[in-house]
Amino acid sequence: MRRHIFDPEHEQFRDAVRRFMVAEVAPHAARWRQQGQVDREVFRKAGEQGYLLMWADEQYGGAGVEDFRYEQVLIEENMRHGEPGFFMTLHSRLVGPYLGKLGNDEQRARLLPGCIEGRSILAIAMTEPGTGSDLAGMRTHAEEHGDHWLLNGSKTYISNGQLADIVIVAARTVPDRRHGLGLFVVERGMEGFERGRNLHKMGLKAQDTSELFFNNVKVPKRNVLGDARQGFSYLTRFLVEERLLGSVGYLAYAQTAWDLTLDYVRERRAFGKAIGAFQNTRFKLAELRAQLDALQVFVDHCVLEHNAGRLNSDTAAEAKLLTSELEGRVMDECVQLHGGAGYMEEFRIARMYTDARVSRIYAGSSEIMKEIIARGIGLDDRKMQ
Ligand SMILES: Cc1cc2nc3c(=O)[nH]c(=O)nc-3n(C[C@H](O)[C@H](O)[C@H](O)COP(=O)(O)OP(=O)(O)OC[C@H]3O[C@@H](n4cnc5c(N)ncnc54)[C@H](O)[C@@H]3O)c2cc1C
Repeated sequence: MRRHIFDPEHEQFRDAVRRFMVAEVAPHAARWRQQGQVDREVFRKAGEQGYLLMWADEQYGGAGVEDFRYEQVLIEENMRHGEPGFFMTLHSRLVGPYLGKLGNDEQRARLLPGCIEGRSILAIAMTEPGTGSDLAGMRTHAEEHGDHWLLNGSKTYISNGQLADIVIVAARTVPDRRHGLGLFVVERGMEGFERGRNLHKMGLKAQDTSELFFNNVKVPKRNVLGDARQGFSYLTRFLVEERLLGSVGYLAYAQTAWDLTLDYVRERRAFGKAIGAFQNTRFKLAELRAQLDALQVFVDHCVLEHNAGRLNSDTAAEAKLLTSELEGRVMDECVQLHGGAGYMEEFRIARMYTDARVSRIYAGSSEIMKEIIARGIGLDDRKMQ
């Protein structure tokens, strides 16, 4: 299907990104999956190309490019030709903006250049062993003491958790207010900040997802982002973009799975013909094709809406819900069409199946997306009798 949202500059950019993914990411992917994390070096290389935090101001070394379509291209090419466990976008566009948009001049000048160059890798820590979807229930807390905040607690399932040099940690700052949270910049080497295990996941094996511990970490006041009691509203402010980032990636990964399955069913033979000749195969791939095309139009629309500053949280939740659910269906059908090969890790589709399972869980689960959409249409259980 022809897409209408890209200009020739985006297409040129896509060619360059594709070459980067093919040369600098794909050849290392199997080793990264084995070692449970990407090499730090790949962030440096992406930084050299200007692919990190592209939105950041030129005075910090960024390109000053707010146009979301460039990030969309980076995500799509990483999904197709790179390695989905390389969380470049989490670094650039999910965590980076907390520093860029909430940080003051001193914080931006101090922290952004290293992130743009790929010397400092970013993570964000909200989830805890006891709470994920219900963020307001977090127990990690920070107390104000003169020139610093004393941070205590633990986080889990944190992406880039082993590699991160800067972790934005959400912590309770007002004990008796559910939404009384602050956001703290915790840096590698701060006393009392420790990393736990690199967790063993069913998929996304190249992604270092970890536990983090904070034991009387003295976070200097200059490392507090914005108002130390408004963290909850800051977190919700960035969720629209986070869901759009996810949607772009889930759909691109599903498209990739569909394409490689089409190749497979043309080659693989059973009962004297290509399995692609069976009506079931043709209809399955036809149905998925139609759904992928329809959703691509919707996601591209959301990207343009976001560029225009109009994407609202309900629509972003719809995109996240639909793309992650479709991704799951595509992966499942594509494994089925591969037969036994689809269950073998040496076939890419088997890895894609497990990689994709988390899309319906993280960045707000499908159930939470439905809650948001339902509230948006006026069915808010909190206000109903
Ligand atoms: C690979 C991976 C990477 C991650 N990266 C990060 C990261 O970088 N930073 C970070 O902070 N977190 C991260 N997370 C955490 C992730 O965001 C949470 O796992 C997710 O928000 C779900 O929270 P939970 O695991 O506590 O599940 P729970 O909240 O315990 O949910 C369990 C089930 O209950 C359902 N449920 C919960 N509330 C409701 C409700 N109100 N109505 C209906 N159903 C409901 C959920 O949908 C789910 O099906 C990551 C997780 C994974 C798996």
